[in-house]
Amino acid sequence: MGKLSLPRKVTVLGSTGSIGVSTLEVFELAGLELDVVGLTAGRNAAKLAEQALRWRPQVAVIEDERGLPELRDRLKGSGIRVEAGAQSIVDVASADAQWVMSAIVGFAGLAPTLAAARAGAIVALANKESLVCAGPSLLRTARLAGGMIIPVDSEHSAIFQVLDPSAATHVKRLILTSSGGPFRDASHAEMAAATLEQALAHPNFSMGAKISIDSATMMNKGLEVIEAAYLFSMPPERIEVLVHPQQIIHSLVEYADGSTLAQLGPPDMRPPIACAFAWPDRLPWPAKSLDLVTAGPLTFQAPDPVRFPALTIAKDALTAGGRAPAAMNAANERAVAAFLDRRIRFLDIPRVVRETLERMDRVTDRSHNDSDAVESARNTDAEARRMADEVVSGQFAA
Ligand code: NAD
Ligand code: MG
Repeated sequence: MGKLSLPRKVTVLGSTGSIGVSTLEVFELAGLELDVVGLTAGRNAAKLAEQALRWRPQVAVIEDERGLPELRDRLKGSGIRVEAGAQSIVDVASADAQWVMSAIVGFAGLAPTLAAARAGAIVALANKESLVCAGPSLLRTARLAGGMIIPVDSEHSAIFQVLDPSAATHVKRLILTSSGGPFRDASHAEMAAATLEQALAHPNFSMGAKISIDSATMMNKGLEVIEAAYLFSMPPERIEVLVHPQQIIHSLVEYADGSTLAQLGPPDMRPPIACAFAWPDRLPWPAKSLDLVTAGPLTFQAPDPVRFPALTIAKDALTAGGRAPAAMNAANERAVAAFLDRRIRFLDIPRVVRETLERMDRVTDRSHNDSDAVESARNTDAEARRMADEVVSGQFAA
């Protein structure tokens, strides 16, 4: 095997989450010797400290300042710098790592992801919300800085791997596959009565709470349609969603000549993480082989737009453009938080999102401003959050 030219200096944003942990696992299993610049977490000081003692980053940052004393205590005498707060996360994202895993959940990931892109790093992007809210600016920022955004989301990693840039003008359709989530075959009545526990139980994956609920409403796939439109410069009408419960085919690209290319693998986030780490090379690590005999039949069905209105909401937001995707994302984050707090019912989630978008449409669009798309995304995010909270407490309070 030829010698790999891999990044050495790395930062993992959101290292304590599902994707963050899988990222460190890939490093471990591949036996990589890395210079870790930074590890960051939201609140879990104990887990961050444990990772820091293993990976010896220059700095460990916790977003929630209340976790700082515990983090400091656990890392006392280690020589690892300890910091807290959102600005410190942006600072570590701008430091001199060659490769940055962006695995913070939600809009909170935007500022650090942009900072890493601005610093010219290769950004392995799991945080889909930052693309949804400010996709074109994020991609432009990376390009201008000489860096690169490599998708980690398995569907986009699949497309990234099979989409030949020299043939991009001949792509007819992108087809994003979806597991269908825990309510794939549930009745409308069952979904109306769904408990938090049922909604969190994803059939194939253990993921963070927010993306688990997004998978159950299929807003995850809606966010991914927007993500794909920006990443691959594809209009909404040429992006389709296909339910594929086994999650073996991770997505497909259809070309104008009638040929369709797919990427396959076991349902596991580590291969797309490894791909984003070594690209355009391939990282050898003890990955599980795909066994198509034991995988059983691969099945496909069309998504049901009636039980999963989030798909239509997302496509409409993408078509509307401007601040609609950022507003949709913010409303969804608040609706999911309300559902996680048991303040609204499951089917209220898309209702809250739609109602928020309708209300946002009725107020004059003061915040959208192309010259500073990121500032405008921030304003839209704040405004849509406020409005979604009003909708939740006014109309849907349990
Ligand atoms: P998670 O909830 O397990 O982890 C989120 C990480 O972000 C944790 O380290 C947490 O401490 C940190 N965090 C949370 N709030 C923060 C804040 N305000 N400021 C700073 N840090 C904060 O989530 P996850 O499942 O790992 O997902 C991370 C991202 O990757 C999401 O955008 C998700 O959509 C995307 N993604 C996840 C998967 C998956 O399989 N889990 C697959 C594809 C894409
Ligand atoms: Mg995905």
